[in-house]
Parts: sequence; C-alpha cells; structure tokens
Amino acid sequence: MRPDMLNPLFADTESMDGVGPKMRKPLAKLGLTRIRDVIYHLPDRFVQRHCAATLDDATIGEQLIVPLTPIEHKASAGRGPFRVMAQDDAGNICSITYFGRASYTAKKQLPVGEKRWVAGKLEQYGQMLQIVHPDHIADNSSGAMAKLVEPIYPLAEGLTQPRMAALVTQGLGHLPDVPEWVEPSVMQKEGWPTWKQALVDGHKAENKAARDRLAYDELLANSLALMLVRAANRGRKGQPLQTDGHLRNKLQLPFPLTGAQKRSIAEIEGDLAQSSPMLRLLQGDVGAGKTVVALEALLIAVEAGAQGAMLAPTEILARQHYETLRQMLAPTGVQIALLTGRDKGKARESILMGLMDGSIDIVVGTHAIFQDAVHYRNLALVVIDEQHRFGVGQRLMLTKKGRVTPHCLAMTATPIPRTLTLAEYGEMDVSRLDELPPGRQAIDTRVISAERLPDVVAGLERHFAQGNQAYWVCPMVRENENEDIAAAEARYAGLKERLGNDVVLVHGQLKADEKDAAMERFAKGDAKLLVATTVIEVGVDVPNATLMIIEQAERFGLAQLHQLRGRVGRGSKKSICLLIRGEHLSQTGRERLALMRETQDGFRLAEEDLRLRGGGELLGTRQSGDSPFNVANLEQIQRLLPVAHDDAKLLVERDGGLDSPRGSAARILLYLFERDWGVQLLRGG
Ligand code: ADP
Ligand code: MG
Repeated sequence: MRPDMLNPLFADTESMDGVGPKMRKPLAKLGLTRIRDVIYHLPDRFVQRHCAATLDDATIGEQLIVPLTPIEHKASAGRGPFRVMAQDDAGNICSITYFGRASYTAKKQLPVGEKRWVAGKLEQYGQMLQIVHPDHIADNSSGAMAKLVEPIYPLAEGLTQPRMAALVTQGLGHLPDVPEWVEPSVMQKEGWPTWKQALVDGHKAENKAARDRLAYDELLANSLALMLVRAANRGRKGQPLQTDGHLRNKLQLPFPLTGAQKRSIAEIEGDLAQSSPMLRLLQGDVGAGKTVVALEALLIAVEAGAQGAMLAPTEILARQHYETLRQMLAPTGVQIALLTGRDKGKARESILMGLMDGSIDIVVGTHAIFQDAVHYRNLALVVIDEQHRFGVGQRLMLTKKGRVTPHCLAMTATPIPRTLTLAEYGEMDVSRLDELPPGRQAIDTRVISAERLPDVVAGLERHFAQGNQAYWVCPMVRENENEDIAAAEARYAGLKERLGNDVVLVHGQLKADEKDAAMERFAKGDAKLLVATTVIEVGVDVPNATLMIIEQAERFGLAQLHQLRGRVGRGSKKSICLLIRGEHLSQTGRERLALMRETQDGFRLAEEDLRLRGGGELLGTRQSGDSPFNVANLEQIQRLLPVAHDDAKLLVERDGGLDSPRGSAARILLYLFERDWGVQLLRGG
C-alpha cells in the first residue's frame, strides 16, 4: 500500500482549487491527472527579464520590466489597437498596445498619471516604441521584481502560463516532508537540495542541481524497482534443465552458427541449468539470427522433458516463427503448435489439450498463449520476441504461468544504447549478438527527393522484371491514424493501377485474416510489392524482397529506419534502400538520413539517435514514448543513470532489500514514481 504521506499528492487534479471538469481536460491532455503530475510538470524554460530604470537602458526585442506612467488612453478608429501612451522617468514615450477587446482591462490597470511597472517585450513600431499585451503590470517595484524570472510551461489549449504557474504553486503546497532516499555521499558530492527544495527550486529558475536531483530520483526509482525484480527472481524456485543434446543433435541447419550465436546459446544453457529462473535479454540487430538461438533454447527445455513457449507481438510474426521453427524442427520429431487469438472452437480445444497433456512440446503464439484458460503440463521456458513491445508488468505476468517459475528469454532487435539497456532491462542479464551471419551484403542506401517518385515507380517495374520483390512503406504520422491509413490506401491504389495485381496492402486496421492473407501472398512470392504502414517494422523475413522504399523518411527516427531497412538484405542478393525525403527537411532530418547512408551498424545508429535527439534539450523536455522516463531527459539519463544504478545495487545488496532506514525512504520513492511493482514483488515473494 502507498504510504499515507503520499496520498495528498495522488489526489485527482479536480480536487485542486479552481480545477473543475472543464479545466481537468487540458490538464489530462498533458498527462496531468493527479497533483503529483502537476508538481512534476517542470518548466521547459524560463523568461529572464531585464529590469530597466528607463527605456534608455533597454534594447529592442528584449524582455524587460520598466516603470512607466500612462499619459493618455487612445482608442483607434475601426479595428485598430487600443493604445496607452506612457512615459518613462527620462521622458521617453512608449505605447502599451492592446488588440481586440482589451481596452477595459487596460484602462483599469493603467490609469493616467499613476506609475506602473510593466513587464513585456519591447518592440519598435515605425518610429514608436511599444509593448504589446504586457505579461504583467504591477503597481510597485517589488511586485514587479517577483516577475524577473518566470517559468514557461508546456501547455495545452485552454491553459495559460499564469494559470499553470498558480496550479503548480498550489500543488507544491501539498509536499510532505519525506526522509532522504539518496545515498548521503552522492548528495554531498553533487551538492543537491532535498527533494522538497528541489521541486520548489526546479519551478523557480534554471537550476541544474535541482533538476538533476529530480531526474536522479526517477532514475533511482527505476533502477531500484528493476533490481528488486531481479532479486525476487533469484529467490524464486525454477526448474534446472539438465540435457544431453539428443534433440539438438538431430537438427540439420543449413548454415554453421556464428560465434556470437554459439556464445549466446552457451550463456543460455548455463542459465537454464540453474535452479533460479533465467532472466536474460538477447539483443541482436535485425537479421543477426535470433530465431535459431531461440530454437536451441526451446529444444533444451524439450530435451529436459518440459515445454517451451514463444510469444510474438503480432499474429504475422507468430505465424512466421511457427513456420520457421516447424521446418527446422522437422528432423527432431518435436511437436509444435501455433495458438493465436483467432483460433476458436475445436482447433483451439485440441491445442489446449495438447498443452495440458504434454503432447505439444512447443507453442508459438500471441499473448493468447498466456490466457487463463491455457494450462501447461510443464512449462519451463518462455521466449519473448521483440521484447520492447511488452512492458515490465507483462513480463512479470508471464513468469507466473508455470508451477515453478519458467525461465525467460527476452529478445529484442531494437539496438538501444547501453545506457538505455540498463534503464529498460536493468533486471536482466544480457547476451549480445554483435556479429551478423557471413555473406551479408551491405544494403545500398540512397536518399532521393520526392520529385523523383515517377522514376522510382519505373525502377520498380524493372526490379520486378528481374524476379525480385519490394516493400513500400508509407509514413505513420500518428497525429491521426485514419489519415495515415488513407494515405497508404491511396498510395496502394495508385501503385496497383500502375503495376497490376501484384501489389498487396497491410496496415494496422485490417482484419487479422486479411493481413495474414496479404502477408502470405507476399511471403510466397505471389505478390511482388508490399505496401505498408510501419506494421512491417518487426521481424518479417522475406529474403527475395531486396528493395525497400520509405516515403517521407525524415519523419522516422533512426532506430525505426534501421529496423525497416533490415527487412531487406536478408538473402544473398544485393539490396537497395531508397529513402524518399519530403520537401521541408530540418537540420536533424538531414543528419539522420546522412547517417543512414553512412552506416548499417544498429548499435551505432542507436547511439547517434540518442545524440541527435538529446542535443538541444538542456532543460528536461519530456520524451516521447521511447524513453521510460518523464522527468529525466536523455542527457541526464546518460550522465546519471550509471550512478543511480550503482546506488540501487548498494541498497538492495548491502541492505538486503528495503528494511534499512534508507530502504524505507526508498520505498516511498518507488511509490512516488509508481514503480511499486518492485515493492509488490518483495511482498508476494
Ligand atoms: P533476427 O530475428 O535476429 O532478425 P533471424 O533469426 O530472422 O534474424 O535470421 C535472419 C536470417 O538469417 C534468416 O534467414 C536465418 O535463416 C539466417 N541465419 C541465421 N543464422 C545464420 C547463420 N549462422 N548463418 C547464415 N544465415 C543465418
Ligand atoms: Mg526475429
């Protein structure tokens, strides 16, 4: 249960003064549904105003505060602005200008003959100095001085800066006194303020120590939770799998394993022999050959007389894995089944029976394989493909399925940088497939402008005439999925008209069987071109497809482009990737595409992606879905995560959990950042 002292922070924003259902909406849009979220809604930046005694001290274009005395109210004819002509102490004249219906407020706030301190941006309009819609007007200098530095918050429609600032101030009034959870030596070395002080300071002005401390808290919470999962997992009873390799010996793989594959398999075999359950991540670039590693792991389970399951994020992938594994397993006599949400009735019943009585050794499927109705005779290993599609919560759920906790092998083709690996998978051991199978040719990557689309289509025809296949990826802008799909459909229709019936379309809103049918036609070679939104991003393997066309490539992140490009270059034939760029290319967009041309090393691209996006973010601009953090920005993650990781380790290993005084403080931290699944796990044991 959440510590009582945090309850006020987890109250809904609607319980705040001045927040009703109407105000709640834009707040929720920003992800602020509880007071906790509001206090962690840190400013993007701050306006720094220059305090000028007279306009002689001021520069055009700067933010300033200056004392001015109104001398005349001037309404203009028609739709012109309302002007308050004012004079500074040196006799300079300045217009305080209002557009729209603001004259009433203006007259009230700026009465003629009374000195006021005006905050705003100084502009020049013809020969005249002016301040348009001042940000603040104070009737004494100390009131004005309070506005010298002002936070600028990310807003949503229906919110204003003053409104947001007032809510934050209100929220900060709810801060409880908490014990310190950061290691004293770290606090001292970094010179950080307390949690409470850091929050207050973080909203007040640019303050590196405060922002770092807040980021560190989030990183520490995350590391600690993952560490607790790890410790709890070690304490669980697993099933040691002793094997003699009699099934693996029967495999007739068409290729020798790479060194990296052999090493990974050995690491997995070592883990599986232990009585504590394996928790291992297999990280390997697209095409590195993770499937065969999974196959060997699954066979170890079967050799030991147990069962294995492989979970894929989509039906398409589940089906493909099933086909691949089934073929490779043929010489072994091992029984494998496919189970997805689409299996109904008798077929499903018979698979469920087979899993229960053990006549099925290996099952491949979507999350359907972990539904309550599915019982295993003896599930010893769970392989999760494309791990990044599943959260830690789901990861934990899966491991509850067996009588004893099954071993878990997670696989990901998203080559994330080392620091982020730690952040996302800190609870796991890692095997890296850092060597591609031999004979892979570099993919010839070219950037071309959208004006050349007709040439591209003509090239497609030649490509098909040579018996090759191709992918055509339309961008997902994600602001409006329907529009994206409409764009893909339009492109599909156009290409089909030109190229005939050899074109298929796949996108996220198609029914599962339509999608499968299209994929199957493409995989079999009946269709020459697959037009798709990014649903083909993961895993799909058609070696004969040697051309990848990506429209508006600048809209994709590097990691995503790399994933997409990895769909080609899978066979022995030479492959090409055409990155079609839009008209308006930002500097970063340009750099991204250049990098794609330059390298094919996924881990390097991941590091560069981090650098490109981490660049201009000095203050903690919130990250999109690809980071598990809201407070810590990418730069802070890189700098502070290793420290947080060590700190968390110390706490768990030295203090054996959360029972020490600092441990109980850390427990509060876990709840504050909602990593309390770490705590639950300790409890549930
Ligand atoms: P990943 O899942 O890591 O993206 P796959 O397991 O789908 O990669 O393998 C990609 C392709 O490489 C497959 O066609 C597979 O048969 C082939 N492959 C895997 N290992 C080797 C190897 N050691 N030598 C040659 N080809 C391999
Ligand atoms: Mg794969």
